[in-house]
Amino acid sequence: MNQYGRSKAGKDSGRVSQMQRENIKSRVEKIRSRLGRKKIGWLVVTKPANVTYITGFSGDDSWAVIGPKRVYLLTDSRYSEQAKDECVGCRIIERKGALAEAAGKLTKRMKTGAVAVEESASIGDLKSIRKNVEVGCRTVGGIIESIRSVKDEEEVVAIRTAARLAAKAVERMRSKIRAGLTENELAGMLEWEIRQQGGEAAFETIVAFGSNASRPHHRPTDRRLRKNDTILVDFGVRYGGYCCDVTRCFVVGQATAYYKKIYEAVKEAQQAAIRMVRAGVKASAVDAAAREAIKRQGLPVYGHGTGHGLGLEVHEQPTVSWLNKGKLRAGEVITIEPGVYIPGRMGVRIEDNILVTEGGCEVLTLC
Ligand code: ZN
Ligand code: ZN
Repeated sequence: MNQYGRSKAGKDSGRVSQMQRENIKSRVEKIRSRLGRKKIGWLVVTKPANVTYITGFSGDDSWAVIGPKRVYLLTDSRYSEQAKDECVGCRIIERKGALAEAAGKLTKRMKTGAVAVEESASIGDLKSIRKNVEVGCRTVGGIIESIRSVKDEEEVVAIRTAARLAAKAVERMRSKIRAGLTENELAGMLEWEIRQQGGEAAFETIVAFGSNASRPHHRPTDRRLRKNDTILVDFGVRYGGYCCDVTRCFVVGQATAYYKKIYEAVKEAQQAAIRMVRAGVKASAVDAAAREAIKRQGLPVYGHGTGHGLGLEVHEQPTVSWLNKGKLRAGEVITIEPGVYIPGRMGVRIEDNILVTEGGCEVLTLC
């Protein structure tokens, strides 16, 4: 996220754009108001993406602490310079000992009373914080994640840019596909193209040839591409801290009638789900629309969810599955990724990234 001010997507050439400054301020205000309703004065933020979200800092091994008046970043000497460059509106504390110890000491010094700690903290960390907090500490989850799921304009710009780079990278990779390449080689080629475009792989690229695609999370092997083979590529691009997540399927040569039927069924299921997307619609209804379309074709219905939110992380709120009875909100960015998997034969999945708007949606991944 820090790269914003310096990147093509940035609004000025300074370290931190005015827009980013305002966005971070408004995020912290929203979180404080949520904490106030839960009678929490202080929150120790341990999840890396949440730390980035409220401070602008993109390094590792650092926590943030939100107090009633100030936000603190607990980092160490490896990141001091980076933190000074990236942080917006927070006080940087260079710790010498462990993170939990530093968080405990800070809360003691500030006489915070009870504190809340994000539930991603380990049991060991909690024990260590408790040693220093006199009144008590409890764990909380999902507060920042629920605010993060609705993107501000700057975040949408970053995801849109990541999606544009993804389209270019996959197009360049496709022009170089030839029989004899291995899944590993093709995955490497795509990741190289992503870097050439100025992005980075958001997660380990999935490349599956032929029947290997029936396993939704196949890891690339040394299986070679044959004539008339099918290819499934599931990959992500991270740009300015934000991710896109795309799956494309194609054929080298001639597709069988059965493969074509399955591809068309998946495409239709995806379109049926996308047509449903707008603010106020239940996520479970979007999920059901895709599943019903697959069922109508007499094909096996996939076991995974239809989609997920994405942003600073590849998997964020909201999940688009039968389990989520909540409604989609304008500004959320979700994937829609139905698939059909025939064990030992083939697999097809099509995944795009969709911005939820008041009256409908916008497909951000156009490749
Ligand atoms: Zn994916
Ligand atoms: Zn996905």
